[in-house]
Amino acid sequence: MSTIDGLPPLRAVIAAHGLVAKKQLGQNFLLDLNLTAKIARTAGDLAACDVLEVGPGPGGLTRGLLAEGARHVLAVEKDARCLPALAEIAAAYPGRLEVLNADALDIDPLAHLTPPIRIVANLPYNVGTELLVRWLTPPVWPPVWQSLTLMFQKEVAERIVAKPGSKAYGRLALLAQWRCEARIVMTLPPEAFTPAPKIHSAVVHLTALPQPRYPADAAILSRVVAAGFNQRRKMLRAALKGIAPDIEARLEAAGIAPTQRAEEIPLERFCALARELERG
Ligand code: SAM
Repeated sequence: MSTIDGLPPLRAVIAAHGLVAKKQLGQNFLLDLNLTAKIARTAGDLAACDVLEVGPGPGGLTRGLLAEGARHVLAVEKDARCLPALAEIAAAYPGRLEVLNADALDIDPLAHLTPPIRIVANLPYNVGTELLVRWLTPPVWPPVWQSLTLMFQKEVAERIVAKPGSKAYGRLALLAQWRCEARIVMTLPPEAFTPAPKIHSAVVHLTALPQPRYPADAAILSRVVAAGFNQRRKMLRAALKGIAPDIEARLEAAGIAPTQRAEEIPLERFCALARELERG
């Protein structure tokens, strides 16, 4: 059976290279090339872009990205067993796919790419949140990347786009929404993957804003949000006690009642509090 890119179907690739999925590497593969092309399309126009993909596995999404016209794809894969399959894709798209056999947490793959850069990945569940937080907290803003299109467990995706007052609202929502436009663009049932995980998944698309929605020092904001949500059921005057000796007055100056809880506070007020604390 032939495919849109003339390469073998993914089931045949997996069988030929003995790619039995390893749970500890978060290996749940997408085998439907129509679906991977659809995910690649949600990332926006790839034609003029370099794309970073973390965890290409047997290359289903990689093939989608290349078929959708990505200028250059850098694929970082920890599992060396996947390299021969990825080499076949590189041969079918001469000069457009570069594969790095590395742990994405140990390197800075963005240093290998030329802007404009988009990041697209079906992330391994065990490292997904950590990578997202790294990409959201670069030393300078705007970051080198334009957008992130990432598959997560649905519950994590909901935390990224959550609004105040919901259970899912917390540090991840505030970090993501302070400097990005974030939305869920697709949800997928377990059966979309091989092997099927226990949970549903969702693709989140984040676009970097040229500047944050509200001014605030990133380190102070991050400290306040971490402390506020660390004890999310406490009133803020208690949860933030260690942040400043006169925290009640600071909260009031930022338009926050000291008896409120972190999950009720919108981004704008957290930024106001960070600015208030920055005044010293
Ligand atoms: N992109 C493929 C797909 O959609 O079918 C595979 C996705 S699978 C959920 C996650 C992939 O990430 C696996 O291929 C796994 O080996 C790889 N991986 C796991 N941890 C990694 C890490 N720390 N750095 C790079 N790749 C990793």
